[in-house]
Amino acid sequence: MSPFVTSTTMSALVKTRPDIGLSMEQCSIPQIGPEEVLIKINKTGICGTDIHIWNWDEWAARTVPVPLIIGHEFAGEIVELGNQVEALALGQRVSGEGHLVGKHSRQSRAGKFHLDPETRGIGVNEPGAFAQYLKLPAFNVVPLPDSISDDIGAILDPLGNAVHTALSFDLISEDVLITGAGPIGIMAAVVARHAGARNVVITDVNQDRLDLAALAADIVPVNVVTEDLAAIPARLGMNQGFDVGMEMSGNQIALDQMVEAMVMGGRIAMLGIPPGKSPVDWSRIVFKALTLKGVYGREIFETWYKMISMLQNGLDVSKVITHRMPATDFDIGFETMLGGSSGKIVLDWTDL
Ligand code: NAD
Ligand code: ZN
Repeated sequence: MSPFVTSTTMSALVKTRPDIGLSMEQCSIPQIGPEEVLIKINKTGICGTDIHIWNWDEWAARTVPVPLIIGHEFAGEIVELGNQVEALALGQRVSGEGHLVGKHSRQSRAGKFHLDPETRGIGVNEPGAFAQYLKLPAFNVVPLPDSISDDIGAILDPLGNAVHTALSFDLISEDVLITGAGPIGIMAAVVARHAGARNVVITDVNQDRLDLAALAADIVPVNVVTEDLAAIPARLGMNQGFDVGMEMSGNQIALDQMVEAMVMGGRIAMLGIPPGKSPVDWSRIVFKALTLKGVYGREIFETWYKMISMLQNGLDVSKVITHRMPATDFDIGFETMLGGSSGKIVLDWTDL
């Protein structure tokens, strides 16, 4: 047992039964294996995935075993090292990749870990990070430089989704359209700005979210309820449509609007997850010669490398965090997220 851990139990946010909500429970502190580390959690971010689990929707009921400690966005410090772990140290500040990959698939053996079909997620299939302590394979640990705070460390997972999507296609001097100004859409817009796009336009139907986007960086917010997206290119001095699209709403109407607004031969990266099957006008996509790329998770670990380098080089996503609260107020955090107007909400586990 670690000299840094004096108790055998910890507080953790648990889905205890197949129903709506979560509860703070006393659980055993995880025992680590030789290639794992124990991380004392300082900050965590609430994700849309956690909201699905809170609501216990059809996906959650199908996917999440009960009981389970949930949560996968975190920053903390290492308090115990397995005896096979190298190149990490006690006390080191870290975040980490929450996708636990296998070693057997062709993709994994080729080093394309993010494409491994055996992937299991912490806080979804395996015990998660909404707890005082988290057990994680050393392989998944990502050290945090001193310049990256625990608050930002706690949102690197969704920032990684944004970075993975945004860097899917060349952005320098391109006109970029993002549909969906949720936390990930806004972060993708900030990344596109940082990466040298010419115009970055973001759409939503929620004015609070668009206001937050405008606050976060030099982005053109468009409320598609009250404004005509078709009028925007001319207003920005663009001759044709958008070169690069990032679909980040999961809404079919938004994808239709994006296809319509793209230039011939444009490229679209799709992160948003539609709730079910949705009709797509494929002939429009074919005649426009568009390229569509599905994006899942983060590239392990190239996205992490790029993201941390950008944060060290002026990328500022701090405005996307709109609420901070102690983990004991988790129900307020979840209710705020359910309201649909917040950015990222960060829970503080240090005072438990
Ligand atoms: P979010 O739900 O907070 O944001 C989605 C936004 O889209 C909302 O602000 C909503 O108002 C907006 N929207 C709804 N209809 C719209 C329309 N017609 N036009 C424009 N905007 C519209 O989600 P998030 O946490 O920012 O995540 C973005 C998306 O990415 C979600 O669909 C999420 O499920 C998905 N996601 C995918 C992965 C992955 O690995 N592929 C990972 C994380 C999240
Ligand atoms: Zn997440």
